[in-house]
Amino acid sequence: GVNIEKIDYVYKVVVIGDSAVGKTQILSRFTKNDFCLDSKSTIGVEFQTRTLTINSKLIKAQIWDTAGQERYRAVTSAYYRGALGAMLVYDVTKRQTFDHVARWVEELRAHADNTIVIMLIGNKADLVDLRVVPTEDAIEFAEDQGLYFFETSALNGDNVEAAFFKLLEEIYKVV
Ligand code: GDP
Ligand code: MG
Repeated sequence: GVNIEKIDYVYKVVVIGDSAVGKTQILSRFTKNDFCLDSKSTIGVEFQTRTLTINSKLIKAQIWDTAGQERYRAVTSAYYRGALGAMLVYDVTKRQTFDHVARWVEELRAHADNTIVIMLIGNKADLVDLRVVPTEDAIEFAEDQGLYFFETSALNGDNVEAAFFKLLEEIYKVV
């Protein structure tokens, strides 16, 4: 046939973090370059894929979205199984979502492989006037915990590509 893609690797990535921080919109921005203004809470576990080239390898990123199970400890270990990377998202306009990041890291340490690459994401950076979590607080936490870190906007797309590419490049280095 024609146009058969020769995928070199499939990388499973999970997106986690509190409800309404923008997980589904970040995924939609990265896989469809789209933002849905009236997104509903996610129903059912699902994943989206995007195939891209990293270091001359064709990589299929298989990115899993939570099924509105963001309550503490409601995400099951099956969700984390085989995940090589995690996008751990908080909302820069909601302090509590940043305070909960430590719990999500604990969840990852408990359920995911210990080689998992973790990217901390401060989303909704476009809401400049509503920001309550200073960038420096997140940088300090990320350095302390050994996480990568970006601030993003799923709304205008800022840094979404950069964050995913960095995560996938780091996965490429460890697998
Ligand atoms: P999830 O529960 O973490 O999957 O969050 P959603 O992706 O459903 O987003 C929750 C709400 O935040 C929705 O009303 C989105 O339109 C809004 N939202 C998501 N990302 C952004 C962003 O980057 N900027 C702004 N201003 N709103 C966002
Ligand atoms: Mg969602």
